[in-house]
Amino acid sequence: MKKKGLNFLEQIIDGDIKKGYEKKHLRFRFPPEPNGYLHIGHLKAICVNFNLGEKYSAPVNLRFDDTNPEKEAKEYVEAIKKDIEWLGFKWDKECYASDYFQQLYDWAHVLIEKDLAYVDSQSSKEIASQKGTPTEPGKNSPNRTRPTEESRLLFEEMHSGKMKPGEHVLRAKIDMSSPNMLMRDPVIYRSMSSHHHRTGDTWKIYPLYDWTHGESDYIEQVSHSLCTLEFEPHRELYDWFLDALEPLKGRRPKQREFSRLNLSYTITSKRLLAELVSSGAVQGWDDPRLPTISGLRKRGYTPKALRQFANTVGVSKRENVIDVSLLEFCIRADLNESAPRARAVLSPLKVTIKNFPENKTEELEFEINPQKKELGKRKVFFERELYIERDDFQEEDDENFYRLTKGQEVRLKNAYIIKAEEVIKNKDNEVEEVVCSYDPKSKSGSGTEESSRKVKATIHWLGRAEAVTAKVNVYDRLFKVSEPGKEKSITEDLNENSLETLDAFVEPYLKDAEPGSSYQFQRLGYFIKEKDTNQLVFNKTIGLRDSWKKENG
Ligand code: ATP
Ligand code: MG
Repeated sequence: MKKKGLNFLEQIIDGDIKKGYEKKHLRFRFPPEPNGYLHIGHLKAICVNFNLGEKYSAPVNLRFDDTNPEKEAKEYVEAIKKDIEWLGFKWDKECYASDYFQQLYDWAHVLIEKDLAYVDSQSSKEIASQKGTPTEPGKNSPNRTRPTEESRLLFEEMHSGKMKPGEHVLRAKIDMSSPNMLMRDPVIYRSMSSHHHRTGDTWKIYPLYDWTHGESDYIEQVSHSLCTLEFEPHRELYDWFLDALEPLKGRRPKQREFSRLNLSYTITSKRLLAELVSSGAVQGWDDPRLPTISGLRKRGYTPKALRQFANTVGVSKRENVIDVSLLEFCIRADLNESAPRARAVLSPLKVTIKNFPENKTEELEFEINPQKKELGKRKVFFERELYIERDDFQEEDDENFYRLTKGQEVRLKNAYIIKAEEVIKNKDNEVEEVVCSYDPKSKSGSGTEESSRKVKATIHWLGRAEAVTAKVNVYDRLFKVSEPGKEKSITEDLNENSLETLDAFVEPYLKDAEPGSSYQFQRLGYFIKEKDTNQLVFNKTIGLRDSWKKENG
């Protein structure tokens, strides 16, 4: 097999090892904020970090960046852990930025003592108005020269909860004319009276993300802190913070950035996903139409397919949009190998075989998975009354329609050739039943001349007596456009017909099938048996495309 080249992060790490970095000090982390469920974009960051952990036999921390109690919740912490476990990754330490609140607070005092931080008592609006622009320097706050002792006392009062939110903030004293806007005296603490899901009401001030993130990496002694490209300008700030705290005993994390995963027809922003969930546009974070890990799981995606997808996308510094069909390709390839075949009719139309005896059932053989011959065959039952797919019949023949029409023959999969003779309609003139005849000599695999007679198509079917009712959810893309939210709001871009629930018939053995197991329904695609219900429900994972032709040609 051709050896895959190293990705650019592996090259950096290998380079560090060559220069003497000890392998035993390697440590990575995945740092989600528990303010929503993980999505397909996070999958990339998870795989980048955990794959490196596997490659270098190095630990990977799971760190919750929980600095914003207003938006965060334990529900999200649990959902994130469940998703990473389900993907098959094992983290080393389970860490929380909130565990470092005391250390961060003590360090903030160090900054104040060194005159590298000050309490600003202006409103956030005033502070914003002095920020300047990338081409114009900002203005110093009138509080910038506040004596150290005064800042220290005010900060302690913020800490004890004496100050109202918005009255004062603590800012790092860096450089209001830096070309890097992030270096213009960033706010590092604010007062907030929110209940935190872990620390409760202990804290009346909360550290900002930038102050927390780099320090957390340092505290955990993460060797390579890998994040998405938009964090590149934050590097300078994280370095400044650590310089300001010198002397420090530990090793400095090395931050490197890779491009975000963008997928066509898909949103990968927790904020927008949260909007869809809270507005009721979808049925929760795990709605199978959402690109959340939990939604994809409910849809029938497998950890193997998702990891394969992430590995195929790879890691680089180039921003691009990946076609969603690559994701679909990965799940199709996985299920084609693993999913047993089953029979279902999603929009049933009754067929009566007029020359087949009443009260007779004939046993026929059905291959469980042509990709896995060892699974063998099972019995299916042919009888006088059957169901076929409504779409597979058309009353009038036309040159573009190859399936069953009046006077035209088709083969019923693994069974006989039938011919439509007569159509029975209801009072609304809709076809209710098709009366057919069958050729008794044409049984598949029987070796007769008729059994190999060519007809225009092979269609699937189900015997009426064996058919069991089931609900089947069939999905279309959630958005009508490839870049949702680009020109209109995401709500306007929603596809109103993204979910259709059908009253279908399936084979009886599917009633007892393991919830959460996947099947290939003949000719229709891949379906997963829904777990979260007492009814018999299947969710469509993905269509088949060409595999039907190959298998059955
Ligand atoms: P969102 O924009 O959806 O809110 P986020 O970056 O704020 O995402 P975090 O919980 O902070 O969400 O993300 C945890 C990690 O996942 C970060 O390191 C972040 O860079 C990474 N990540 C988030 N979205 C993507 C993406 N689309 N592609 C690659 N990595 C991502
Ligand atoms: Mg974030």
